[in-house]
Amino acid sequence: MDLKDCLEKLEAEGRLCHVKTEVDPFHELSGIAARLEGGKVVQFDHVKGSEYPVVTGLWWNRDNLACVFGCETERLSFLFAEAVDALRAHPVAPVVVEDAPAQSLVMAEPDLSRIPVPTHALRDGGPYFSNCVVIAKDPETGVRNTSVHRLMVTGKDRLGLLMDVGRHLRNYYERAEAMGAPLEITINNGPHPAFYVAAITPSAAAPIDVDELAVASHLLGGPARLCRSLTVGVEGIADAQMIMEAEILPHVREPEGPFGEVSGYYAAREDRWVVRIKAITLNRQPVIHMLHPGREVWNSVGLGVEANMFQTISRQIPGLKKVYLTHGGSHYGAVLQMDPPKNGMAKNAILAAFAAFPPLQMVRVVNSDVNVYDPEDVERAMVTRCDPAHDVVIIQNAFCHELNPTVKDNIGAKIGFDCTYPVPKPPRYEKVSYMPVDLGAYDIA
Ligand code: MN
Repeated sequence: MDLKDCLEKLEAEGRLCHVKTEVDPFHELSGIAARLEGGKVVQFDHVKGSEYPVVTGLWWNRDNLACVFGCETERLSFLFAEAVDALRAHPVAPVVVEDAPAQSLVMAEPDLSRIPVPTHALRDGGPYFSNCVVIAKDPETGVRNTSVHRLMVTGKDRLGLLMDVGRHLRNYYERAEAMGAPLEITINNGPHPAFYVAAITPSAAAPIDVDELAVASHLLGGPARLCRSLTVGVEGIADAQMIMEAEILPHVREPEGPFGEVSGYYAAREDRWVVRIKAITLNRQPVIHMLHPGREVWNSVGLGVEANMFQTISRQIPGLKKVYLTHGGSHYGAVLQMDPPKNGMAKNAILAAFAAFPPLQMVRVVNSDVNVYDPEDVERAMVTRCDPAHDVVIIQNAFCHELNPTVKDNIGAKIGFDCTYPVPKPPRYEKVSYMPVDLGAYDIA
């Protein structure tokens, strides 16, 4: 199973559309993606300056992913959580295969100008790979790490890289740099989405001595397939569309950014880490995979943490039914659905949610008669069931996520709204309902 198999499956289900007009990877491609965001997966068949198509949108609609993974949309987060649990319970180690499809073509000299890399947002500092899966090895223990990082193209064999605080890749790099050595990596574009799920596994679930590729093995139903690299000592993903074999240079920093981030705001241009590409290999007729920043990231973060939050909160609070990280909330806002068995328990659930996922800044708790996926329904619960004098919790100076502009030095405030009705339910909270009908049975002009 590779990305192209997934695209075939999506096409067969009517979930893939093609942009046949030639588009410019400089702003135009992402301009179109922004207009189509949330719907079908989009393949740009003709991208100016390159022979390779670009695909985006796999992650911006949960039904697309449910089609790829062959499960119900609401079960996706639980499927991902089971895969993360498999890391501890029965991890399946990856295998190294010969004749990897991702090494079908080898560029004589690495030359990124032949690859269609979009410049996404209007103020972005350059073309960006937004979703490549980076594999590295711990310079001391050799344990593999898999993660996703934004990469700005700065030359035909050069990239700027962001490694946020606390990421294992950064820890590996800092120890390599202290020895004066580069950190070898492979940068894999367009692997099966199971590898992306592995790469975004939170470090709480996959500590630094754990190879998160077992998450991909679980989702793929067999060992994740890797391939030996030509120029570095780290494996690539055998069925990826493209592999860049590279090293992060020690003691070198160059400007990277701005980049239109998941928060909906630009990350600033600063001196950051530098990657030198040593070789580029490609699949036969590769499709370059891009993540359109925004909804694709919210969904991937949401699907990665919702089931985990559900399990963590449920261990302490009875009655929880659903956890949803809303799109409008980037990944700073969540709605919990529960019918609290006792008064006050919705507030405990708010506290448990903040503890379970530190980037959260706003939690709303609603009853089971509210559709958590419908922002109108949630807002109605908020204005009709939350008494601002008693049902709001504010926690100041808590640890938050650095990309939210209200947060300074990772310190910010968190707010919880208890939008549940009192226990027992007073009759005045009964929602209006009508007879269910099948509209297809009526002649309506
Ligand atoms: Mn790791």
